This record gives sequence, structure tokens and C-alpha cells, in this order.
Amino acid sequence: MPVYEYEHTESSQCPLGDPFEWRQPMSAPRLTACPTCGRPVKRVVSLVAVSTPKTDSDLKSLGFTKLVRRDKGVYENVTATGGESRIWEVSKPETMPHLHKKIGD
Ligand SMILES: [Zn+2]
Repeated sequence: MPVYEYEHTESSQCPLGDPFEWRQPMSAPRLTACPTCGRPVKRVVSLVAVSTPKTDSDLKSLGFTKLVRRDKGVYENVTATGGESRIWEVSKPETMPHLHKKIGD
């Protein structure tokens, strides 16, 4: 679940702090009142909200390439897309990930 950042729209002595982070499903409506003190809150855009993708499929859908070392000179491209070799052997240039295609667009 993503973490969103909220802040109270009026000064408060809320124990959650200001701003505070709140974890909720992406489908959930945004908070309008603080879950702790009940005062009005608004969501603020923060780096937390666009936190680093965690799963390989997240990375893949965002166009990242993730290589996992499997052996000396052998990497598995766990985000391989169609046409890419899943295994990159350093000694075989044709198996190298197609980075130029991803960077180019
Ligand atoms: Zn509060």
C-alpha cells in the first residue's frame, strides 16, 4: 500500500505530527479529517507518495532494467521485456539488455 503525506489545515497539537504519513490503499478516498484528532487535513504531494517501486514488475512497467548477479559475469535481467535475453552473459554482447531502446524514448 502506498504511503501518503497529509498535513492539518489548521494548527494542531496532534500526536501524529505535521505533516504525517498515512498508509492507505490506492483505491481508498483521501482523508479529509485526521484519523487521530479529527481536525481537517489535506493531502500534500511528497516524495513519499512516489516512493521507489518495490517489485520487479513495478520496475519493468516503469521502464527500469534490473540485473541480478547469478554467477561470475552472468546476470539475470529480471525485468526483461519481449526480445530481450533473460540472461546476460558479459562475454556474449548479444545477450546484453536493450538499454539503448529504453533510454532512447
Ligand atoms: Zn491530527
